[in-house]
Amino acid sequence: MDLTATLQRIAEQVRPHLAEGKVAGYIPALARVDPSKFGIAVVTVDGEVATAGDALVPFSIQSISKVFTLTLALGELGNDLWKRIGREPSGSSFNSIVQLEREHGIPRNPFINAGAIVVTDVLLEGRPPESVINEILGFLQRLADDPTVSIDDEVARSEAETGHRNFSLAHFLAAFGQLKNPVESALAVYFHQCALSMTCVQLARAGLFLSAGGRDPLTGLEVVLPERARRINALMLTCGHYDASGDVAFRIGLPGKSGVGGGILAIVPRKAAIAVWSPGLNANGNSHAGTIALELLAAEMGWSVF
Ligand code: GLN
Repeated sequence: MDLTATLQRIAEQVRPHLAEGKVAGYIPALARVDPSKFGIAVVTVDGEVATAGDALVPFSIQSISKVFTLTLALGELGNDLWKRIGREPSGSSFNSIVQLEREHGIPRNPFINAGAIVVTDVLLEGRPPESVINEILGFLQRLADDPTVSIDDEVARSEAETGHRNFSLAHFLAAFGQLKNPVESALAVYFHQCALSMTCVQLARAGLFLSAGGRDPLTGLEVVLPERARRINALMLTCGHYDASGDVAFRIGLPGKSGVGGGILAIVPRKAAIAVWSPGLNANGNSHAGTIALELLAAEMGWSVF
């Protein structure tokens, strides 16, 4: 099957849906993004790259970064990480405060905001925020095999200025004794990782190790052991789309991680990584047209983990 032709057809099919979503308005720098953008890229484990639409336009990957910081934190702490963070779907919005209060500062999983803030706290052990931010950026550049991956400082600043909920979550964590570093340091890292700016091609390429048992199939780099790759995929499937994770598993059937920039990274084990971008979001904060595009692609290719 001609993958490029399939992606181009899907880009046409989702066009009427682009206007149905709403761009994330709570981060001013994201509110300005053109909602008519749409990009999709597939990178296969054999190195084939297929694209359609705005697949070479950088966008803010936001919460998709949580997959990569989790990978780094597991490298630091191993399974001890699970003493500080759960592994259950939250069934709540990505920035819920109520659940964190009820569960005494142990975030449900590493992909909701509270969990990702604990992950940054782990990465900060013995290091200043600037060096952790550089480590995360370098990791993404290596995984994407592209030194042009960058952080959009304006987005990071914009998040810091309006990030009242994230400050609340971090202070709650600190009140429960769950942060070892200052709130300001954990959030400085968190806002910068969310502000990573990548294209669909770079993002799919960076996620490819998760499609290939933890080893980058194109460079041979051992990123994580196969068992860890399986577990990161399991968390993406069960928690990667917040309170829509069940619906996404039902509709698409692939591990995935979304971000409020409108991007989604999806993993087809042993075959490919997919990145899609459309800034208009649904009520759960996931890309509306991006989800539809993945649903069409998975159905057409017969891609599913089930
Ligand atoms: N930076 C965003 C926030 O903290 C990330 C949320 C997301 O992408 N779901 O609100």
